[in-house]
Amino acid sequence: MFEKAIDFIRALYGDREFIPLHEPVLGEKEKAYLADCIDSTFVSSVGAYVERFEREIARYTGATHAVATCNGTAALHAALTAVGVDAECEVITQPLTFVATCNAIRYCGAEPAFVDIDPRTLGMCPASLERFFKEHTREEATGPVNTATGRRVAAVVPMHTFGHPCEIDTIAEICGRYGVPLVEDAAESLGSFYQNRHTGTFGKAGVFSFNGNKILTTGGGGMIVTDDDALAARLRHLSTTAKLPHPWRYEHDEVGFNYRMPNLNAALGCAQIERLEELRNKKRKLAEIYKDFFGKIGIEFYSSPFGDASNHWLNALVLKGSEERDRFLRLTNDHGVMTRPAWEPMHRLSMYAACFRTPLPATDEMAARLVNIPSSANFTEGLFA
Ligand SMILES: *Cc1c(COP(=O)(O)O)cnc(C)c1O
Repeated sequence: MFEKAIDFIRALYGDREFIPLHEPVLGEKEKAYLADCIDSTFVSSVGAYVERFEREIARYTGATHAVATCNGTAALHAALTAVGVDAECEVITQPLTFVATCNAIRYCGAEPAFVDIDPRTLGMCPASLERFFKEHTREEATGPVNTATGRRVAAVVPMHTFGHPCEIDTIAEICGRYGVPLVEDAAESLGSFYQNRHTGTFGKAGVFSFNGNKILTTGGGGMIVTDDDALAARLRHLSTTAKLPHPWRYEHDEVGFNYRMPNLNAALGCAQIERLEELRNKKRKLAEIYKDFFGKIGIEFYSSPFGDASNHWLNALVLKGSEERDRFLRLTNDHGVMTRPAWEPMHRLSMYAACFRTPLPATDEMAARLVNIPSSANFTEGLFA
């Protein structure tokens, strides 16, 4: 059964020696914009491509503002800081995520607290979040406080796992009711919508990543989107060393960050976003091909309950348990087909093991069963037409 899967994936990607999990699609447009950027001499964090890329992302997502950063982790750190997360606080997130979500919380000096995922969406479970507020917080003048840790709950950070939207409208409604800012980790979900609204636009702020393995890449890069004018202004200020605008004076009014996206990276982004629909279509097609194939050989292929509203960034199988998963991982990787398990859940990493958490049965189960399989958009479609 697993051998069939290996043969199939190898055929899909032209039987190369090594098939990576996800590689970017780059071409002439990327080279042309990069060359133009170099010719302009504006290769650093001031330049026309940065502003243009911000406008493009704002337009595509429907957000009022977009602020470009040097990577997604920096975007998360700046966004959390700007919504008021500090060393006294706690931030509710899901344990099934990339470590950057929790690291950004810790950069603020705050502590993550974990609620479970919904096994259908792989994202934060709204019922688990509601239960956290009901059973573990008391209302104070500054907002909800975790009764066990004494920490103020300063933000909720759900993540759209593998690009698939979580039930973000319900999560936004709960956050609104408890008066806690919602910051979406939409790092993986550019091109994913929830009820026709782009992921990342449901709360105070949303964060995207353009790392080399994401659906769209700038080499390294990130973006914060928000509809809040004051928050956008603060994010621009914070991410550019908090320098006061002046033609020659160098004066700063707080400890800011050097988090701005360089123009070179933005040039790449401007070229990439012109392909976003093409990439999105390719990925929809790939998910369809995989679903059909794995259905036939009796292996469960993860499908989002929201179907093609997802960008289908990273495809996943749901194996029977950790033993079968490990057998699959060993066999595929031994045959040059890169696969990997879901991230080790955050509550099992030494840095976050002591963090407050509610019961996490769905996280534990799915983490033992999920495997990501090659998902690059450059597969040979013709084979399956
Ligand atoms: C990629 C990713 C990030 C961080 O992005 P970088 O650009 O690599 O810093 C954050 N959260 C999640 C869920 C991610 O997948």
